[in-house]
Parts: sequence; structure tokens; C-alpha cells
Amino acid sequence: MTAIELENKFSAHNYAPLPVVLARGEGAYLWDVEGRRYIDMMSAYSAASHGHGHPRILAALTTQALRLAVPSRAYYNDRLGPFLKEICRVTELDAALPMNTGAEAVETAIKAARRWGYRVKGIPKDRAEIIVADGNFHGRTTTIIGFSSEPEYRDGFGPFAPGFPSVPFGDLGAVERAITPNTAAVMVEPIQGEAGIIVPPAGYLIGLRRICDANRVLLILDEVQSGLGRTGAWFAFQHEKIKPDGVILGKALGGGVLPVSAFVGRQELMDVFTPGSHGSTFGGNPLAATVGLEALRIIRDEGLVERSRELGTHMLGRLRAIQSPAVKEIRGRGLWVGAEIDPNFASARHVCERLLTKGVLSKETHHTVVRMAPPLIIGRDDLDLALDRFEEVVSELAKMPRPSVAA
Ligand SMILES: *Cc1c(COP(=O)(O)O)cnc(C)c1O
Repeated sequence: MTAIELENKFSAHNYAPLPVVLARGEGAYLWDVEGRRYIDMMSAYSAASHGHGHPRILAALTTQALRLAVPSRAYYNDRLGPFLKEICRVTELDAALPMNTGAEAVETAIKAARRWGYRVKGIPKDRAEIIVADGNFHGRTTTIIGFSSEPEYRDGFGPFAPGFPSVPFGDLGAVERAITPNTAAVMVEPIQGEAGIIVPPAGYLIGLRRICDANRVLLILDEVQSGLGRTGAWFAFQHEKIKPDGVILGKALGGGVLPVSAFVGRQELMDVFTPGSHGSTFGGNPLAATVGLEALRIIRDEGLVERSRELGTHMLGRLRAIQSPAVKEIRGRGLWVGAEIDPNFASARHVCERLLTKGVLSKETHHTVVRMAPPLIIGRDDLDLALDRFEEVVSELAKMPRPSVAA
């Protein structure tokens, strides 16, 4: 059986992959089993922001793997402290709780916010509310999908946890109206990734900060995808010069090789955790901590934040200059762009399949948005090559007779 047949037979069908079988990666390149090379314009949803097989990440990984990998947090280890200290330095927050996947760090934030609500704010037992935004994506646990607005994420998986009122993203008035004496936190993505790289109106985070302060409500930002340089700042909240009470990190924190996540917050918030109140067998293991610390250092040493800002401006400029009726809108910030395709011309999936045949890997989000989020280490020439291919594909679409949306 071929690799595709094997996956199709033995894997649950919870993904619909593009028809390419990847076998190797280096930097911003991926190769398939036939040796064809592709430019990676996806970077594993930002998990591979450092590029594939970054030599410093691989060195840190292999050296630490030979020393000590997973002793559990029943004991202290010599790698976790330095890693969390650096996380606190870059986020300018006080303490962190290490986990593995993004969804686990989101769950950690929810637990922290609720307990803070009861123990510090004085919300009556089991009544705490966390306001979220329509179109959110915070992961796939049953609690998290319970407040998703995507029917396909929820269908068949209820009953869901109460306590997550949802308001339109970008609408400050709606947040204000949703606040009650039982509101513990507002939790949003600064830019909604899976929703289609939706950038809120300028001043949104500043407004959220003001509303939260006025009502003694925590502001928690999910920067699992937007953080660590993706938007041309270390964190998207820095574009509006605000300070959140808590930040959720993941994806790029693992340097492209391991799942490493963390919930980072102010002291008062992190102090709600007591021994036994939360944990993870793998969270904070020395191997993950070593890779995470190296991932943070590389971002600083290689100027990846500035790179993302400069190349991102270039990418947005080039995409916005494309004159094609098939492209309805270009949105984004830094090396993170969504191209909204007019479904009268083609589905975003079709565009991604065409890009694949031209050696560029991207992925649609929803049916109309092509996501472009290359590794932050991508060379300008490779970025330009990928953008040339995208321009070719959309200009071909505009020339073709309009197929029906279903085609
Ligand atoms: C990907 C993502 C998550 C979930 O991360 P996993 O590692 O897949 O659990 C949470 N929040 C945001 C904003 C994400 O993009």
C-alpha cells in the first residue's frame, strides 16, 4: 500500500490532507517522497516558525535527549527554571505553567481564570463566566469546542460546559454588554487565525484592556499562533502597547520539533495554583524546556521578529497589488496573511491544490481563505517565488470560465 492508502486505511479521518506525501524538511523547504521540493507557506500553523530542522534546535534537542528527557515534575530539574524565566522576560509577566499542546495551555488559562474569579474576585461558586469571541479557535478539547461557533467542530460532541458567553470579534460594545458580576475573564486571539486571519479594528486590545480594568475582569490573550514573532512583534498585544493579565503560548515555542506550550500570567493569577490543582506528566520536562528556551533565543539572535515585520510588509504589499477579480481581500500582519478567494471563481482548496502542483504548500482555512504563513526564516527570494506562483494561480482562475461553487 502507498503512504496515502495506509493513512487512509489506518487513520481516523479527522483530516483531509492535500495529496502530497512529505518525507523531509529543511528551512523553508519540504520534499515529498519522490524528491520534489516545495516552499512551505504553512509552517505547520506556525509550529515550524523557525523552519524545519533548525540546526540549533536539533543540537539542543539531541544534546538534552542524551542527558535527561522526562523525569516528571515529581522532582525539580535543571532546565525548567531557565526556560520559564526567559518566557517571563519576553512576555513581561511574572510566572508560567508549562504544558505541551496549545489546547492544554488554554485549559490551564480557563482553570486559572475561574479559580481567580472565585478566590480573588469573589464570584459565587460555579458561576464564573469567561467571555469569548465568535469565530474563535482555541483547540479541540470538549470544553474548548463547547464555545466554538463552528458547527463542524461541535457536532456530535456535546453536552458542553456552560460559562462561555460569546460576542462578535472586534466589537467592544458587545463585550461591555456581556460583562456581569460573574465575569472572570475575557479570552480572545489578538488576530483570529483559523477564522481566516481576521484582524480586529485598531484599538480593539486597548479597548478590551480598558473594559477589563473598569470591571475587574482578566484579559487573557491566546497567542498560540500570533505570538513569537508571527505578526512582526514578539506578541500581537505589543502592537497596541497593552499588557494582558495572561498569555497562552504554544506552536512555535516547540521550535518545530516538540509540542511545548505554556500559560503565562501575573503573579496574582498564577498564585491560584496550589500543589495538586493542575498538572501534566510531560509538561515542563527538561527536553521540552531545553528546546523551548533555544526556540526563544533563536528568535532573538536571528532577529526573526524584525524579519517577520519587514518580509510581512513586503508580502502584504505584493498580494494587495494583485489585480484579480478572484481575490476578494488580503488580510494580515507580519508573515501571516489570509487571501479571501471569491467562491465564484474557485474554492480556496482548489487554489491550494494548484499551488501544490507548482511547488508551493499552503492550506485553506474555511472554504474561502488561503493561508500564507511561511517560516520566519524564509529567504526573500523564496517568498517572492511563492508569491509569483500564487499570482499565477489566481490570474489563471480569473481567465477560466466561472465554475459553480461546488466544482
Ligand atoms: C493551534 C491553536 C490552538 C491549539 O493548539 P494545539 O497545539 O493544536 O492544541 C489554540 N489556540 C490557537 C489560537 C491556535 O492557533
